[in-house]
Amino acid sequence: MTSDFTRSRERMVDLIASRGSRDERVLAAMREVPRELFVPPHMQDFAHEDAPLSIGEGQTISQPTIVAMMIEAAEIGPGSNVLEVGAGSGYVVALLSRIARNVYAIERHRRLGEAASERLARLGYANAEIRIGDGSKGRPEAAPFDAILVSAAAAEMPETIRQQLAMGGRLIVPVDEDIAGQALQRITRRGEDDYDVETLAKVQFVPLVGEG
Ligand code: SAM
Repeated sequence: MTSDFTRSRERMVDLIASRGSRDERVLAAMREVPRELFVPPHMQDFAHEDAPLSIGEGQTISQPTIVAMMIEAAEIGPGSNVLEVGAGSGYVVALLSRIARNVYAIERHRRLGEAASERLARLGYANAEIRIGDGSKGRPEAAPFDAILVSAAAAEMPETIRQQLAMGGRLIVPVDEDIAGQALQRITRRGEDDYDVETLAKVQFVPLVGEG
């Protein structure tokens, strides 16, 4: 029997596709991963709205359309080694784990990071691992990465993180533009110190808080 949540997930994915997402692997992962289990219980009925939702500690699970855009832009394949900075609820980590080979993530709020790790273990996303700490310096021990998603807004281009890209690797990061929001950038590593920068969209994320 198809549950109400399964149906509302399908509606959410139809909406995301109608807004321009074309990557079938991303859409399939979004159909499969139960977003309703990544939000607080009293929010479950809103879990498939195309909106960010509060997850506690002043943080949010990001808007599904933006999540789809970021993962699609990162061009992740089944062999990819991937990093997410700002794991929050673990929802993006779960999506990435359906698409990539290995997923490394980092979250600065211990309570959120531990809850996300337990959730991923319970749901069986075994190729993903969340560490608690400051992700503004990336995760050098697991680099180089084919793709890096930064899910919080950086004041400027995070230099240490981009150096953890493999050659040809893609970093997707919202970088502060003005008081009203950020430019979502795709930074592709072309050589040792050679990066292409493209702006994908105007977005609004909670800030990246950390040394790097
Ligand atoms: N992708 C997450 C999800 O699927 O639920 C939502 C990310 S939320 C918009 C941004 C997250 O980045 C917050 O949980 C916040 O605590 C975290 N964050 C901010 N600065 C950080 C840092 N320096 N290192 C690690 N996490 C950080």
